[in-house]
Amino acid sequence: MPGSWRCLTGWVFRIRAGSWINILTNFRRDPPAGDDRHGLSCEPDILIADEPTTALDVTIQAQILDLIKELQKRSGMSIILITHDLGVIAENCDQVAVMYAGQIVEAGDVRALFKRPLHPYTKGLLVSIPSLSKRRKTRLPTIAGSVPDLAHMPDGCRFADRCPEVVDICRRQTPLLRFAGKGRTAACHLVPDNSGQKRTE
Ligand code: SF4
Repeated sequence: MPGSWRCLTGWVFRIRAGSWINILTNFRRDPPAGDDRHGLSCEPDILIADEPTTALDVTIQAQILDLIKELQKRSGMSIILITHDLGVIAENCDQVAVMYAGQIVEAGDVRALFKRPLHPYTKGLLVSIPSLSKRRKTRLPTIAGSVPDLAHMPDGCRFADRCPEVVDICRRQTPLLRFAGKGRTAACHLVPDNSGQKRTE
């Protein structure tokens, strides 16, 4: 293994769904006293878990998430979960960044964001989650339209063609991430800027 690659993988591991099964078999849930080995070599500071629960049944999914939490607790590393599953985020994460068409459109504390989403795309995602408390035969809301062609992005807001709250400025000016208070940021012209500053990262 070339030295530079070894160095990179020592810092960050990127693991896809299938590989979690390998961790499952290597990881020792109750290691003997003094044995702090676990399924991850090189003791990474950050683990990027890309869709770790995709295509898994709920039982395996729960085991994988338990494992991730246990690994995190034992090693103290930070974990970045990349997922489309809002339930996984709600149950396992502290901070969340919502992305649309390659850009972060909203970020902040998980509980605050789920309780009061600011960006219309986040709102659309949250209302489209099935709920046992909803009346039967109620049609689940969806976000109309589809993601723009990534090679031909529209001017202004990338979500404008699908946004139920779109106004004129949205198609002319790209909304930048702005501070929305209490550690929240959102990229939407309708979200008041609480800092007087705008951020682009
Ligand atoms: S900037 Fe305009 S189009 Fe974009 S999300 Fe906000 S309201 Fe909707």
